[in-house]
Amino acid sequence: MLVVGAGPTGLLLAAELQRRGVPTLLIDARAQALHWDRATVIHALSLELFEALGLEEAFLAAGCRQRRLLIHAEGRRLGEVDLAGSGSRYGFNLGLSEEVTESILTGHLERHGGSVQRSCRLQGLQPHDGGVTATIACGEQEQTVEARWLVGCDGLRSTTRELSGIGFEGHAIPRAWAVFDAVVEGWADTYEANAAYLDTSPLILTALPGQRWRVYMRPATEQSDLVSEATAALRRYLPSARFHDVENPSRFHCHTRVASVFRAGPVFVAGDAAHVCSPAKGHGLNCGLQDAANLAWKLALVHHGVAGPALLDSYEQERRPVAEQVTRSSDAADQAQLLERSGERAARDRVIAAMLADPASRAQEAVAEAELNVNYAGSAITAGSEKPPLGAGQRLPTTIALPPGAGAAHLHQLTHRRGHTLLLLAGPEADPEALAELRAQLKEADTAASRLVEAVESIRLEESSGLGLGPLTLLAVRPDGFIGLRADTDHREALGQYRQLVLGR
Ligand SMILES: Cc1cc2nc3c(=O)[nH]c(=O)nc-3n(C[C@H](O)[C@H](O)[C@H](O)COP(=O)(O)OP(=O)(O)OC[C@H]3O[C@@H](n4cnc5c(N)ncnc54)[C@H](O)[C@@H]3O)c2cc1C
Repeated sequence: MLVVGAGPTGLLLAAELQRRGVPTLLIDARAQALHWDRATVIHALSLELFEALGLEEAFLAAGCRQRRLLIHAEGRRLGEVDLAGSGSRYGFNLGLSEEVTESILTGHLERHGGSVQRSCRLQGLQPHDGGVTATIACGEQEQTVEARWLVGCDGLRSTTRELSGIGFEGHAIPRAWAVFDAVVEGWADTYEANAAYLDTSPLILTALPGQRWRVYMRPATEQSDLVSEATAALRRYLPSARFHDVENPSRFHCHTRVASVFRAGPVFVAGDAAHVCSPAKGHGLNCGLQDAANLAWKLALVHHGVAGPALLDSYEQERRPVAEQVTRSSDAADQAQLLERSGERAARDRVIAAMLADPASRAQEAVAEAELNVNYAGSAITAGSEKPPLGAGQRLPTTIALPPGAGAAHLHQLTHRRGHTLLLLAGPEADPEALAELRAQLKEADTAASRLVEAVESIRLEESSGLGLGPLTLLAVRPDGFIGLRADTDHREALGQYRQLVLGR
């Protein structure tokens, strides 16, 4: 397996492949990782993924919590979203600079026997029946590498995408962005927050460890002094505010684009190579991590001969719609920041204030911010009931709230696996003997044929009314934490059909 590009997407993908016993060559054109990098916001869905890999403690220790999103305009606070209500056990974003994310993922890769081959640039690729021949320049030397599959995680200007003739449709975002890190003197509010100021010179502060902020802004001109401009914008709210210990002020340009396909024969694209969006909502890195989590287990099953190659078609089918949704919503947020006419701005602020005043809309916003609205229902490899809250295609929630008085069922530790987990949810009326028998049958059915399932677990729910479950409900939870199958009856047959869908046999 050849993975091109050791940003967050390539690092996670290579580590996930190595963890599953797939020897992977990961190359990067740069001689060293960037010492300061772009993204600061890690959403709850990514934190859940890190937990499944045993990395959550490293991330939580390194980052800071961004629990509240404070939205301002025209000199006043329009309202806020509290991510504690997102439905994840991580009720916050994690504030962490991207180079630290990369260094934790590099350690994870190395623990699984992988490494990054640096100063190695992909220059050519030739697909053929058995895979792909890649030409790589490593320093002065040119080499060819034979790989069954190649995944381009090589960012916005992806060589992989270009050499494969994959289109990258969309547009450039006309107004520049800029960024710097600093301390805000005079800050009077919580540091567990991100704060947006939607004035004519828009400003977004995202919290970093050590009570520092990464300051994102839309500079008025190509030459303006970034810190002076940001100070003037913030002083409308905090008259004594001053930025100091400023680091890395820089301007940059963004795009909104999605690759026309995510796969061309033996070549895939993932992360920024497959989709880029405005950083207005901080989804780019997170989306790349989810691409990697989606693709790794599928490639591993195909590599080990457990599944047929048709399984790999589900990668684009599941991830491209997510990329389109994320680029659309990021574009909408980007454009809303930049409205110039006062009437339009006032109308926008009324809509935001009304949304933030309504608990249901606020909760929806928290779910979207946490990326917990990602759903693969309708994918060719999901089967069974799609009924929420535990429908096929949905992410397995970390906790299910049971009816009043019955507490909650904690599910997060059940899916820390490389393979599928079968989860039997037994309602109060379920017969314990029938449950034990079904568990044994399911184990046997899986191991008798080629092995898809790593573990069979069951949970007794003291009360399950209102959850819409059968007396015994079977979930097949995929290694990326999404529910592939839900069956309320005829569990064995349903599992048999699901196995056929995934394994292509
Ligand atoms: C200012 C800014 C702020 C952002 N904030 C956020 C945020 O808060 N949250 C968020 O989720 N996202 C954010 N993003 C987006 C996020 O930074 C990117 O989505 C993320 O870096 C993409 O990771 P990646 O691994 O896909 O690609 P990259 O990080 O771009 O990595 C690509 C790698 O490929 C290598 N490479 C390129 N060409 C070749 C080649 N031919 N051969 C070998 N190697 C090659 C490069 O050297 C590089 O290391 C932000 C972006 C910007 C610009």
